[in-house]
Amino acid sequence: MKITRYVGVAFLCFAVAVHAADELIAMKAARMFDGKSNTLVQDGVVLVEGNKIVDAGSNLPIPSAAHVIDLGDATLCPGFMDAHTHLTSDYSGDFNQRRLKEVDLNVSEQAIIATAYARSTVEAGFTTVRDLGSRFVGSRELVDVALRNSINKGLIVGPRMLVATKGIGATGGHFDPTNGFRDFLFGREPDYTDGIADGPDEIRKAVRFEVKNGADVIKAAVSGGVLSLADEVDTPQLTPAEMAALVDESHRLRKKVAVHCHGDQAAREAIEAGVDSIEHGSFMKPETLTVMKKKRTFLTPTLLATEWIMGKIDNYPPALQAKAKAAAAARSDMFRNAVKMGVRISFGTDASVYPHGQNAKEFKLMVDLGMNPIDALKSATTNDAELLGISQKLGTLEKGKLADLIAVPGDPTVDITATERVSFVMKEGKVIRQGPTAAQKTENAASPHLTAPAD
Ligand SMILES: [Zn+2]
Repeated sequence: MKITRYVGVAFLCFAVAVHAADELIAMKAARMFDGKSNTLVQDGVVLVEGNKIVDAGSNLPIPSAAHVIDLGDATLCPGFMDAHTHLTSDYSGDFNQRRLKEVDLNVSEQAIIATAYARSTVEAGFTTVRDLGSRFVGSRELVDVALRNSINKGLIVGPRMLVATKGIGATGGHFDPTNGFRDFLFGREPDYTDGIADGPDEIRKAVRFEVKNGADVIKAAVSGGVLSLADEVDTPQLTPAEMAALVDESHRLRKKVAVHCHGDQAAREAIEAGVDSIEHGSFMKPETLTVMKKKRTFLTPTLLATEWIMGKIDNYPPALQAKAKAAAAARSDMFRNAVKMGVRISFGTDASVYPHGQNAKEFKLMVDLGMNPIDALKSATTNDAELLGISQKLGTLEKGKLADLIAVPGDPTVDITATERVSFVMKEGKVIRQGPTAAQKTENAASPHLTAPAD
């Protein structure tokens, strides 16, 4: 084979970052979490060819032709998933400044900013997200669809996204984008094209409209929320008949249903209606959790969102502070009960309520509230893959699966915060990151007196 010197040099320069589609890559580390077992495997090896895993196990023989990536004292894991993100927005700062920014910036500019959120999420080891709602007041743009498609086409770096487009909700409810603004400030009342629907027929129309526009999953608000100004956090916002229509229409179109829900009554009605996951679930009582367990409904607890809001409570108007405090006071007991009772837990964080890329902080919150570290890791891999309907292709390290894998330093079952220090990320056979993130490199390079003050 004849290779010119120039091609040879170029190959050497890019050998680590880019691999030919058919090159065999062998990743090895001191340990491996395969997504299924209750213990870690020692001397983990994962063999990848193209975009697939061709083998994974303990101490596998490594073919001599393989390009070896030795990750040392680390644990190989399936790429993490987050079943509840909002990659097109950032709600982590001052609430009123964010509202002003939302009406001030062009949606196209917000879309460009979102590409950075997508990058920091995948660099943190989250190779798949279920993005549960993207809307800009006064706009019908579908930025989440654009972001998903651009990532799929390889135009930008980000996690695989399953998107919900606009969340569906009632007039004046948690998802009403004009909630808290003067009536008709935006020239019209929102309708089904904004996800705002009242009555079973309109709910069906909203579901159909979203699927037509590229939704992979249907999201709805069945109770009030924390970060909305004109509703109570735990009141039901859809009727049982509306929920039945929501679930029936979504499932007919083979879409799963995730519902934002804090209140106990709304949760019970939604579970009875057959939703696939309850998001947040702050006020759910043990009786409701019992029904949930029986119906095998997933709980996505989003502990990190509440934690963030409580840590920055002065950033929110008094009405929202009161709602946040009530939800925070209830959610720890609810989560402990859910774990004890064996309710299926899916990993989801409500990214955008806190800064993107910190998703893994959810793991420690789960473990601190009584969840076994292995179960916490399973929630972000096998459980989420099942909830998202992608477990045929993803969620475990085994032959035939797509090669989404990451490495965390040391042993995450001994120190769960190792998940916050992901050192290697591969998505579908492509190395996204090995070593520090772009942001970390900048941080390390900056001298202390040049660093901007924290806000
Ligand atoms: Zn959310």
